[in-house]
Amino acid sequence: MKATEPAARGDRADGETLVVRAEMLSRDYVMGGEIVRALSGVSFELRRNEYVAIVGPSGSGKSTLMNILGCLDTPTAGEYWLHGTRVSGMSDAELARVRNREIGFVFQTFNLLPRANALRNVELPLVYAGVPSSERRRRAVAVLDRVQLGDRREHRPNELSGGQRQRVAIARALVTDPALLLADEPTGNLDSKTGEEVLRLFERLHAEGHTIVVVTHDPDIAARTQRRIALRDGVIESDEPTGTAPAAVATAARPGGPGSSASWPAPAGRPA
Ligand code: ADP
Ligand code: MG
Repeated sequence: MKATEPAARGDRADGETLVVRAEMLSRDYVMGGEIVRALSGVSFELRRNEYVAIVGPSGSGKSTLMNILGCLDTPTAGEYWLHGTRVSGMSDAELARVRNREIGFVFQTFNLLPRANALRNVELPLVYAGVPSSERRRRAVAVLDRVQLGDRREHRPNELSGGQRQRVAIARALVTDPALLLADEPTGNLDSKTGEEVLRLFERLHAEGHTIVVVTHDPDIAARTQRRIALRDGVIESDEPTGTAPAAVATAARPGGPGSSASWPAPAGRPA
């Protein structure tokens, strides 16, 4: 990856910090001999520390777009730059490396390992990243503290509430210090009270400097982000500021990148 990694991650020569640059992304699926165009010429940019909702009716292409943003899939046409690296056109192996380093995923169904405790679930991405075990443990403990589950480390998923499970999943997404946090209907399986808990956590992470994209059906959730991108039939129908969420701390840096242990973790509510 060294050859494609810019000296300053995500910082372009003009000093602007882009996490995502999507240019005319299209994705075709072939189904029973017919081509389904799930995305058709989608272009947008995300700057560091944006908090964005992707909305749209079922079948409009939200998951397809999330999969491309998350390096789980590649576009049929168009260019995708993630944090200064051109991702479109990468091999699956390269894509997996970029995904592990730059992306944190949060799913509606949590996707935790049922037999592993919270600590182990959170450590797992660091296992894949080849981080030594003592460092893994230190970082997993720290990030569980950040999501206020320091006292639940030894609990397995079935010994946790839905909201706590989703916070474990968020901790797992954060432990690699990703450039981009992607959440697909993160509160879809939660009642409104625990959903609120999760939304507050996203808002805190945003204030700490994280870049967050959330797919949601819920207009109330979308209204709490800074920007709403609406998809319809695979195209962007609108892309507007919501005007409700306060701008995050403009100078907030994310906690240091992988390997920069000095500033990890940021104490709750304050960037290091
Ligand atoms: P959303 O998440 O907004 O509901 P999707 O991105 O899942 O929409 O789907 C967009 C369109 O692409 C839909 O018409 C869907 O049927 C189609 N589609 C999605 N995934 C596949 C696939 N793996 N194979 C064929 N068609 C697909
Ligand atoms: Mg979907």
